[in-house]
Amino acid sequence: MVINIDLDDKSYEITIGNLSKLNFNTKVAIITNPKVSGLWMQKLLSSLQAKEVYIITINDGEQYKNMQMVEHILDNLFNHRFDRNSLLIAFGGGVIGDITGFCAAIFQRGIEFIQIPTTLLSQVDASVGGKTGVNNRFGKNLIGAFHQPKAVYIDTQFLSTLPKREFSAGVAEIIKMAVMFDKEFFNFLQKSSLYEENNLQLAIKKAVELKAWVVAQDEKEKGLRAVLNYGHTFGHVIEKQTAYSTYLHGEAVGIGMMMANYLAIELGLLAKEQNKEIKKLLQTYQIPISYDIKNVENFYDQFFFDKKSSQNSIKFILPQGIGQHKIVQGVDKERVLTSMKNFLKGS
Ligand code: NAD
Repeated sequence: MVINIDLDDKSYEITIGNLSKLNFNTKVAIITNPKVSGLWMQKLLSSLQAKEVYIITINDGEQYKNMQMVEHILDNLFNHRFDRNSLLIAFGGGVIGDITGFCAAIFQRGIEFIQIPTTLLSQVDASVGGKTGVNNRFGKNLIGAFHQPKAVYIDTQFLSTLPKREFSAGVAEIIKMAVMFDKEFFNFLQKSSLYEENNLQLAIKKAVELKAWVVAQDEKEKGLRAVLNYGHTFGHVIEKQTAYSTYLHGEAVGIGMMMANYLAIELGLLAKEQNKEIKKLLQTYQIPISYDIKNVENFYDQFFFDKKSSQNSIKFILPQGIGQHKIVQGVDKERVLTSMKNFLKGS
């Protein structure tokens, strides 16, 4: 099945299904890491034809999504005499996708790249929409560019080797989409196990369709696209407090969604029963839903370090019931603190 992402001259197709034959009349560099390469490179190479194919490997892990690895990739491209007609293929999870896209955005002022995501999180979220970038010592994703891929190929066979925790982290992003945009999709997720291939394919398709719809309306996150950050304002603080080592990104987002829900309850946007439904769905996939906030004031203060919070004005992305969202600004600090205390009590 094919989903179009409609962005005028930057439009592209997202193909979901068995990886088909890929033919390119250019030089191609596959950017990957040793884990993905070891598991799946043969499969990719057997589908790929190009003038010349190079494989550039970077270390595995979020800590390597940095400028040093960008230099490493660019040096390789120059050494192999890549030019403006060459193509990069991102072959891995969101880390590989983000760094490859960024290299494609800046190599000789921009070349084409395609995404072949191999984690659930990158299949439903990171590979679609053209946000690329790397981290530095000031924070995550602070250096980057909007650069849309030429195509995205999503093959669920890659997920067969994905650790269960990584799978669940991807499910958290799927649930996020449903809660924000689509009650019917949420009902489907309540009824259907994503451990079954058919259901998984349908859920990926729906999540990608929703993301494509959002990105088509707001490519550069001036409005609607911010809704995809449901759970992230809280999640980023959790990731930072735990030094990015306790939770996977999707897990921190899952906890963050619960925290956002308590604020939505406090503001009368979400019923307690609806929160329970969301919580139950997250728990079905062992996505963590609790977190020991040691000091609510201190937690609150850290919102202001988020690059999406302009000075003194935190933007909260909250559910308005299930399937709708509301962006709320200027919430009284005391109400936020109260909601965090209720989150801690689980009431
Ligand atoms: P990841 O890329 O680190 O992959 C997670 C782990 O799974 C890694 O160890 C990886 O080597 C391994 N892996 C990948 N494919 C595998 C497979 N098929 N079988 C077994 N193991 C496999 O993490 P992720 O969760 O895919 O992505 C997180 C990153 O994505 C973060 O850097 C985040 O900032 C970024 N992100 C970007 C966007 C965007 O719009 N650009 C959106 C969401 C997240």
